[in-house]
Formats: sequence, C-alpha cells, structure tokens
Amino acid sequence: MYRSQRTRPSRRTVLKGGMALAVLLPTCLQTQAARREELTFVIVTDTHVGYRGQESAAKLWQKTATEINQTQGTFVLHLGDIVDGGREEQYPIYLESRKLIEKPVHEIGGNHDPEDLFRRYIRKESSLVVEQGWMRFLLVNNARRESHDGFLSDEQLGWLESKCDEAERDDRFIGICMHVPAHSNRHPDRAWYVKPGNGHVEFGEILHRFQHRIVMVSHGHFHNGIRGWNDRHGIHEICFPSALYNQNRGLEDKAAPGFNPSEFRAGYTLVTLRERQMKLQYQPTGSEPSVEKLCRFGPTA
Ligand SMILES: [Zn+2]
Repeated sequence: MYRSQRTRPSRRTVLKGGMALAVLLPTCLQTQAARREELTFVIVTDTHVGYRGQESAAKLWQKTATEINQTQGTFVLHLGDIVDGGREEQYPIYLESRKLIEKPVHEIGGNHDPEDLFRRYIRKESSLVVEQGWMRFLLVNNARRESHDGFLSDEQLGWLESKCDEAERDDRFIGICMHVPAHSNRHPDRAWYVKPGNGHVEFGEILHRFQHRIVMVSHGHFHNGIRGWNDRHGIHEICFPSALYNQNRGLEDKAAPGFNPSEFRAGYTLVTLRERQMKLQYQPTGSEPSVEKLCRFGPTA
C-alpha cells in the first residue's frame, strides 16, 4: 500500500513501543486494514438544456433525471454544459428536473455555462471537494465561453495540488473532474484540451506526482460516447457521453490512441469503483444497459 510521508512513524516513535504506536498510528492502520467498500455513482454531462432554442433537450433531461434517480448510484457528477449557449432562462428548467434525482448532484461548469450564471443558479463556489468514502473528487471549472480549449489558472493548479496533498495524507484516492480534457488529443480526435501555456505542463506534473492516488480524470465536452486514454502513468482520462447526443468519429477504426467503445446513443454512465478496479457501464437513456469498460488503477496498475 502507498503510504504518505506524513503518516509514516518516526524511528523514535516506533522504538517507544506500543502506547506511542497506538496513539500515533490508528488512522494509518485502520485505513490499511479497511476494505475499500464498493462505490457506485453516476456521471452525466452535456445536457445542453435549451439546445437550438427547442424543448427537446429539456424533455430528454427530465427523462434522464427520472432514470438516474432509479439507478443504484448514490450520488451524481454532472461534468458541464448544463444549458446550451449560456441561456439563462434554461437554468430553472434544468433545476426543476434535477429535483427528480433524490441524491446529491454536483455540477461543474462547461464552456456553455457562463461563470456568473453558474454561481447564481448552481453553486456560489465553482471549485468543490466531494468526499465519498475512500474517494475525494476535485471539481474545477477549466472551461471558457469563448473557447473549446481548457484553461487552468495558477490558482486552480495550486488548489488541485493542495487538495491532492490532503487526499494523500488522508489515504484517499482522487477523481478530478473538469469539463475539457487535459490529454493532448489530436486529429482524428477533436484536439480540444488544456494546451501548453494554459496549464498543460503543470497539470501533467500533478498527474506525475500523484499518479498512485489519482484514479480518474473525468470530462464531458466531446460528445463521442465513452472516449478515454490511459497513457499517462496509467491514469484514466475519460470524456463521458453526452446525455443529449453523441457522434461516432470512427476513432477505433482509425486506430486513434486510447479507447472508444462502440456506443453513441444519448445517455449517462454508471461508475463502480472497488479495490483497484473501475467499471464504466454505459446507460443509454430509455434503453437497457449497454457497453461496459473495465479499468484497473492503483500502484500495481
Ligand atoms: Zn463543452
């Protein structure tokens, strides 16, 4: 098991014997001994309520929210593009259907969500830490209205690093959520990501430093079903399917790096995490569960 420097007992402490150990080590010993209980949750993204000025996206979101409520997922992460084109009047419509989900829902903004509207309708602080069992999810808004690329400020990078430090100290694994991917994807992919000069290198350093802690880096934005890569330290960097529409770019046929299971209907994803294994279950709205993707994570991945 990976153990952080801070929780390691000093030699002197160990030599002092049982009492000192009992006082200083319980957290570490408990977490080492504890089974990492199975966690199941839902990732939904790119609802684009108000798409093309029509009601169809709102209707689909209502149906999707009803279904999400019935899944075994215990909480929901929404990875951005809540409404389409910054349409303010669509946020109350989004929120009305969101009430159908009787479990916690945590959103991040996308490039279609103006920061001020996100703060007004969704949550005052755009960055958020969500603790769920042995996982710590770090939600950060890396999208801007005027661009399809992602941007991480020094402040956001510092926030991510300090929250990763805390997770390591507490023996938690980490999931990072931001609308735009950081992975440097190129044609035939969309080639939208956090580019050098916008935080690409610095984010890569965070992945490197916490590679045994970070289970997944999750995004929306691509509308290409489940589109993922794991070529940076084995960390799974995944764009999740849009709940409104997805397109097949023929990536697997074109031998693009990474994975892109063949399912492109509108839907959401049921994620199950257990010791060193993540299962992604694509759930097209209104249909039976579809493709499944199993991912390994952790120090032996
Ligand atoms: Zn987007």
